[in-house]
Amino acid sequence: MMEAPVVNVGILTEKAVTFILNGDFIHTQTGHDLSGVQHVLWVDGQIVFNGRLYQELFFEPVSQDASFDLKAVTIGVHFHWQRNEDQRFRGSLYMRTSPEGIVTINQIDVEEYLTSVISSEMSAEASLELLQAHAVISRSWLLAQMEKRIQVDQDDRKYQSLYCDNEQLIRWYDREDHTLFDVCADDHCQRYQGITRASTPKVQEAIRKTRGEILTYDGEICDARFSKSCGGVTERFENCWEPVPHPYLTTLRDSRESGFPDLRIEAEAERWIRTAPEAFCNTHDPAILGQVLNNYDQETTDFYRWKVEYTQAQLAELIHRKTQINFGEITDLIPLERGTSGRIVKLKIVGTRRTYIIGKELEIRRTLSETHLYSSAFVVDKEGETADGIPQRFCLTGAGWGHGVGLCQIGAAVMGAKGYGYQEILTHYFPGAAIERRY
Ligand SMILES: [Zn+2]
Ligand SMILES: [Zn+2]
Repeated sequence: MMEAPVVNVGILTEKAVTFILNGDFIHTQTGHDLSGVQHVLWVDGQIVFNGRLYQELFFEPVSQDASFDLKAVTIGVHFHWQRNEDQRFRGSLYMRTSPEGIVTINQIDVEEYLTSVISSEMSAEASLELLQAHAVISRSWLLAQMEKRIQVDQDDRKYQSLYCDNEQLIRWYDREDHTLFDVCADDHCQRYQGITRASTPKVQEAIRKTRGEILTYDGEICDARFSKSCGGVTERFENCWEPVPHPYLTTLRDSRESGFPDLRIEAEAERWIRTAPEAFCNTHDPAILGQVLNNYDQETTDFYRWKVEYTQAQLAELIHRKTQINFGEITDLIPLERGTSGRIVKLKIVGTRRTYIIGKELEIRRTLSETHLYSSAFVVDKEGETADGIPQRFCLTGAGWGHGVGLCQIGAAVMGAKGYGYQEILTHYFPGAAIERRY
């Protein structure tokens, strides 16, 4: 069996790091055997370790069962649940200096990394087929990140991700790439906590059964996106991010049926969103939803179709705060452009003081909710209009959860439960893509 590649995962950047070597490690620069508690300090751009100065430090495990602990790692950076935690890792420990401090990197076998990531991202209730499909997607994403770092900016088609003037703000959000390592350990990339938490036997099995498998299209690794629920039809890549079509991130009906209306047409979108057509992701089954939603508490099962209501005062205040633009009272929300899943790409906000256009989907979802609206596939009902035409209530009826591009997680969970194999799940959501084994 060919060996899996090694991934460089950036865990933290700090001015001082305390770590514990459990078992024997070799400090490769000095050839010394080391174990137990160690401290490093960042001083004037150099790393101080045991009284000597270094630009980088490398600790390699000597035995199979050796691990190392990093003290007080911040997890959930910028999220409401941010906290510090000691974390345990297998593989090698690599530290290098940077202008911000000591960058601490874990070098680890790709398959071990994936076992950890899928164990913390997916529910323990998930079916084997769903886990296998996810393993292939995560591996594709990971190998693509590793390739990208090797190619170092030979890609000159950089698109501006923000257009802003007096009439409109059109922006999309994509991850910035890292330069000192392949992926970070936080939600920005995929949450990775080493072996701090035990991996589940089912995840280990899913990783083992798909070892080395990735999705490719025309020989290139697929940018395999996924979201919670497409809402019945998936969205095209370019309607959410930069204007580069990916043939395997196209629009398709999330069902055995293939025909569907052109949801870019307002009347068709309206009819589609106000009804709940049959689809793999059209489910209220808590057992299925629990496979995809970690710690699912069943407060709602309304993800396929949902409703959100605001009073005039609530909506006007929310939009003012989010956009930093005073619209006065809101008189209308008008979809100007919809994507192929019915998601609004450009929304016109009409107020008594001014009018402004926002997009793409994530900007719209952030503007119309304290956190994120489930999706931008919605229709608007205005209620209780005053004599001068000011609605007193706005009711949004929507479809799906997330950007809707690529694999639909709730749909994939249903497919898994219905007996579809992981290859069928993947080729359903990524048409034309091949499953290729790299090692
Ligand atoms: Zn990252
Ligand atoms: Zn779906």
